[in-house]
Amino acid sequence: MAKFYNSYSDYLKNKYGYKIYKVGVSAGFSCPHRDSITGKGGCVFCDELGSVAAYLRTNESMYKRNSEYEEKTLDKAVPDDLLDIKNQIKRAKTFLINRYKAEHFSLYFQSFSNTYGRIDLLKKKYDYGLSFGSWDELIISTRPDCLDDEKLMLISSYKNYLKDVCIELGLQSGSDRILKLMNRGHDVNTYMTYAEKVKNYGLSLCTHIMIGFPTESKKDLDLTIDAINNSQPDFIKIHNLNIVKDTILYQDYINGKIRAPSVDEYLNDLVYVLRRISEKIVLQRLICETPSHRLASPRNFPDKNSFIKMLDSYMEKNMYTQGDLLK
Ligand code: SF4
Repeated sequence: MAKFYNSYSDYLKNKYGYKIYKVGVSAGFSCPHRDSITGKGGCVFCDELGSVAAYLRTNESMYKRNSEYEEKTLDKAVPDDLLDIKNQIKRAKTFLINRYKAEHFSLYFQSFSNTYGRIDLLKKKYDYGLSFGSWDELIISTRPDCLDDEKLMLISSYKNYLKDVCIELGLQSGSDRILKLMNRGHDVNTYMTYAEKVKNYGLSLCTHIMIGFPTESKKDLDLTIDAINNSQPDFIKIHNLNIVKDTILYQDYINGKIRAPSVDEYLNDLVYVLRRISEKIVLQRLICETPSHRLASPRNFPDKNSFIKMLDSYMEKNMYTQGDLLK
């Protein structure tokens, strides 16, 4: 383990000897939970723009990192001329090559639930994306209740010619009480069932969790830690709670009922989790960064690099490491 936790950049370096850059695409999928007929209203924190890769949110390009919060709503997450997967890939690769001299890529079906649809349509979209250039990995983000054996079999068939195929599953919390408050529309058990299936199909698993949801207690965090350790994902992405414009949670915020955790509160809870999860799990993300003009709370939170520095120095000063309380 490099430094104090198992970082994604070290994992890539050790596994491949080079860095792989994610090309996030918005493939026109929706989400069963937001569907006006079958859905149950969507997660209370769900923000239409949030799951779209930053370089596709061209409507936002005029905003700087510390822009003032704005009430105005942007028209569309992805402009029509970019909805085609081919254009998105071309645009993303050009950006990554120009900025980072990127040479290796993973195709990342990122926005909403990328297994929501008929099997033939899923195959068509995955094949279409993979037909543009060479790829090391395929990553598909979805909900635990939006998978079945037929879909998993299709997705695992791509292992034959890629170095890795990964499913990203949103768990968010290991506490059914918190999942209800989030209106997630699935329980912990559904996540556990499909996490196991993903692994049984030989796919990598990346689990998303959120820390700092209103009323979340140490007992709830312990349940999240248990769900992570029991399902043993290869990767996790951890997000601090962001209260974003045009979400259900935002209404509670402006009515004064809730607030997002401060940086100190988040740091403490994050370290609490890191020390109790297996040291084998690779951390892909440690902070959520919503653009300032859409972020109601927390305001003035450090950017990713500053936050990572804070976390590293806190871990070092206290001689903490990922999983040290499990030994
Ligand atoms: S599962 Fe994802 S896309 Fe669907 S409502 Fe929840 S946050 Fe939004």
